[in-house]
Amino acid sequence: MDALDAKYPFFASAREAVAEAPVSLPELVAADAAAVDRARERVERALLEGTVASETGAFPGESAYDAQAELLSYPIARILVSLLDSDPAIEKYATAEAATAMDRVHRDLETDDELRSVSSATVALDDLLAEFDLGDTVRPDATAPAGTDRGAAGAVAGSGTGRDPSHYRIDVGPYLRLTSPDWGDSWRLVNRALADGAVRVSRDELLAALEAAVEERVAEGLPFELAADEGIAEALDSRVTDLRRLLSERTYAEPPDVVAPALFPPCMTNLIEKAERDVALSSAESFALMAFLVGIGMTPDEVVAFCGDTSLDAEGIRYQTEYLTDDRGTQYPPPTCETLANYGICHNEDDHMQVAADPLSYYEKRVAAADEVTDWRAGRETDEPSET
Ligand code: SF4
Repeated sequence: MDALDAKYPFFASAREAVAEAPVSLPELVAADAAAVDRARERVERALLEGTVASETGAFPGESAYDAQAELLSYPIARILVSLLDSDPAIEKYATAEAATAMDRVHRDLETDDELRSVSSATVALDDLLAEFDLGDTVRPDATAPAGTDRGAAGAVAGSGTGRDPSHYRIDVGPYLRLTSPDWGDSWRLVNRALADGAVRVSRDELLAALEAAVEERVAEGLPFELAADEGIAEALDSRVTDLRRLLSERTYAEPPDVVAPALFPPCMTNLIEKAERDVALSSAESFALMAFLVGIGMTPDEVVAFCGDTSLDAEGIRYQTEYLTDDRGTQYPPPTCETLANYGICHNEDDHMQVAADPLSYYEKRVAAADEVTDWRAGRETDEPSET
């Protein structure tokens, strides 16, 4: 089993390796093999944290899973995502696979040529371009020869093939396909140096376009129908149910847009107090807290300020809260009380699970019943608590 295929399981060679694997996917699923658990982790972390890296360690070498389990977990993860059958879930999964892959690509490109020559598990920029049929449509920019004008990409070392200038020219067709004006004005074609049908991009911009190519490939064909006679859907039923519960794709038309910590449900207060004691929160705990804070209308900046004296680091908070908020509003409200109880986060104090089925609903009821509500944000703006 090729370590490079395990590291980049969306490569065409990885697909072939899966097809030639000594064990079939239905057999793996029926045996509840390690690849199935890793697939569940892959999807769960993709949806909650925007990464598919294993929590057991940084890939490669430190993961508890071997190369075969890593590789085979990818097609099983695609099956799980298909069974979830949710457009936001597919989008988040593909985005996370691409982001994780590009983290690895960046590390590979930093590997110097000597190390690369003894390790087959690193990818070069030319390999990536060839993988996505971009070898003929992307060229080093002749006006920025290798070793000069490295600009913002200067910290990134070469590809090992001598193809490492700071800028490239990409044909306008693939440029338009792989980039989006939504990424910012600088990506609009009118703001680009265009010559001979090719657009000038920095090395970092080229890598961003490649990330879009990875995302496109991962999302391709999702969701797909499973053969009814293989029994895969039945065997994965409990895994899919857990993922659905965890994500709880309910939406709130009008979340209680007030930050009143005194009225937070006990589960959230416990998590905040735990973080304030400088104890690290688990992924599920951190997700539940961030989803709650975003769900009550807090911006990423406000959450960073609110959690300023806790074990939660600003960068992680910003990433997770921005991930949880998009143009369509909060996609993933905090999981239900039942799910939080399964994760040991809810202790159902005073049996108030009878009052509401999820922390946001419980909080909404407490806010509605309170005589006075002091918004933490108002106090922050004026240094004097105000009442709403
Ligand atoms: S019952 Fe729900 S709202 Fe109350 S502590 Fe448990 S998870 Fe939180």
